[in-house]
Amino acid sequence: MNKNDVVRITIEDMSHEGAGIGHVDGMTVFVKDAVKGDEADVIITKVKKNYCFGTVKEVVVPSKDRVIPKCPVYRQCGGCQIMQLSYEAQLALKTDIVKNNLIRLGGFEADYVESVMEPIIGMDEDDARYRNKAQIPVGKDRDDKLVAGFYGARSHRIVPVRDCKICSEASFSIAYQVLEYMEEYHIPAYDETTGKGLIRHVLVREGKATGETMVCLVVNGADIEKKETLVKRLREYDSNITSIVININTRRDNVILGYETKTIYGKDSIRDSITLSTGDTIAFDISANSFYQVNHDQMEKLYSKALEYAGLTGQESVWDLYCGIGTITLSMATNAKQVYGVEVVPQAIENARANAALNHIDNVEFFCGEAEVVLPEFYDKAYSQSNATDMITPDVIVVDPPRKGCDNRCLDTMLQMKPGRIVYVSCDSATLARDLKYLCQGGYTVEKVTPVDQFANTMHIETVVLLSRKAPV
Ligand code: SAH
Repeated sequence: MNKNDVVRITIEDMSHEGAGIGHVDGMTVFVKDAVKGDEADVIITKVKKNYCFGTVKEVVVPSKDRVIPKCPVYRQCGGCQIMQLSYEAQLALKTDIVKNNLIRLGGFEADYVESVMEPIIGMDEDDARYRNKAQIPVGKDRDDKLVAGFYGARSHRIVPVRDCKICSEASFSIAYQVLEYMEEYHIPAYDETTGKGLIRHVLVREGKATGETMVCLVVNGADIEKKETLVKRLREYDSNITSIVININTRRDNVILGYETKTIYGKDSIRDSITLSTGDTIAFDISANSFYQVNHDQMEKLYSKALEYAGLTGQESVWDLYCGIGTITLSMATNAKQVYGVEVVPQAIENARANAALNHIDNVEFFCGEAEVVLPEFYDKAYSQSNATDMITPDVIVVDPPRKGCDNRCLDTMLQMKPGRIVYVSCDSATLARDLKYLCQGGYTVEKVTPVDQFANTMHIETVVLLSRKAPV
């Protein structure tokens, strides 16, 4: 097989990155934009020793699960990977990925995995503009014209996008207002290759329940010129904008946000609220640097599931590790005796404390630091003073780590604390499977697993797992 060969392939399966998988002459071919069940003519784009990559030239016989992608730049843009797959098939694919990771990486038996899986919780409207946050890179095209859009798959070339179908219409029109301001005042876009230029990204975040909108300009410098003009323009353009901030990022890496944020108009944060299955409504103030789930309606279902798994009666002592702005902590607090939250981003902890006050919740305490440092410190200190408070003998520990999963020092302390239940909320089922294996070796049993689709059209999957402590023999 050679580069640029065209071969006819039947797609038998799909990879965890969302590519179709087929075979030709014993070679595995990963085909971009193909879906399971397609028969397609494929152009080979890269050849490795035992496998190769290709892209669809023409679909000869479409899969029954193939749909017409609703976005015109879907194939160029790297944001969505499976927009050509029906929503039902997307949910089935995501369920399979979670199961496969539990079996392959977690070492669980297939029958066992089948017995603990609950149905995936999908979105009610599968074509919704579900994202409450758009992170839009700005740059220049080959003709030196300013562009805003998204990076192409595995690249840092900006694919111009006028309207992203999974983001709000407002978010992109606001970004184009910023572009017009840049054009008018000759404010340069940041250029990754040289490290020069000023505006890197425009972030727009909206509180679905309130409509409040934050615009954040990520800049490679200390400030921007003509701030007042920009503020005036944006406010006149969209009266929902209640906060405009500048985030300073002069680093030359791929991380979007810098540490420092300055408010140039309105509040430092925007407000949103969620309503859980228990009927509780909780409000949150969210600042630019804080993590907040991007899909509001699915977030309500995710946290309701986590709450159900926690099995709270009002008497429990709970840790919420990787707590962000306290979304899960506060959801649990109204149903528990005491909840302790741990989070590494200082602004998020500030938000979390303010959010507790905002909701008149006083049975929570927040600690800023790494979970793998804070938790062992508490445990060791309380243990050495034989001062076993509720804190080191919690009934429930909830974890919601970033994609890399939990550090072993964190998992080890959880095992030492011996909570009756652990609720693991995960955004990466591979590291989830690894951590579940470790917790099960340490005396826990996986009771229930529910995937929740927070990210239609992309390969991301959120999963909630309930583990319980085996009775000592
Ligand atoms: N539970 C929150 C946030 C989950 S995202 C929610 O649902 O909104 C994961 C969070 O973990 C982020 O806020 C991130 O800043 C934080 N984080 C990352 N590494 C951490 C660590 N080692 N210790 C504590 N928090 C960490």
